[in-house]
Amino acid sequence: MAVYTGIGYDVHRFVNDKPLWLGGVEIPSAIGLEGHSDADVLLHAISDALLGAAGLGDIGRYFPDTSPEWKGVKSTVILDRVNRLLVDNGFKINNVDSTLILESPKIAPFSEQMKDVISGHLKISRDRVNIKATTHERLGTFGRSEGAAALAVVTLESSL
Ligand code: MG
Repeated sequence: MAVYTGIGYDVHRFVNDKPLWLGGVEIPSAIGLEGHSDADVLLHAISDALLGAAGLGDIGRYFPDTSPEWKGVKSTVILDRVNRLLVDNGFKINNVDSTLILESPKIAPFSEQMKDVISGHLKISRDRVNIKATTHERLGTFGRSEGAAALAVVTLESSL
């Protein structure tokens, strides 16, 4: 059976007065990420990886940040739409791996909950979802907590 691999990457800027949504979970934090949607950098990277593996472009194509329709949208809605596109195009998700890059807060206490949210929205077993996190060793943009980044790699199988 053919296996399709996709990669996703996203960055959002930290600002005051915004909630911090990561992996579909609201994390207690003095700063949050800024964006057209809820700025969930992890769900955006995963969504882009899924679209990439399916050869369906990127999330900017379906959810343009110039569109009032998607202003303030929860990224779990984006993930649902992306999953629907995969199903409609005959793909089945094999696994999702991801890495969050941010200086703080610590992600480990929330990663199991993120796995529940992501696997639930993608309708896959939670052991097919992996979430890792690393600091940027206080170096550069991420090290100064100016923003957070996320990387994701997924594999799909074609069910056609
Ligand atoms: Mg984004």
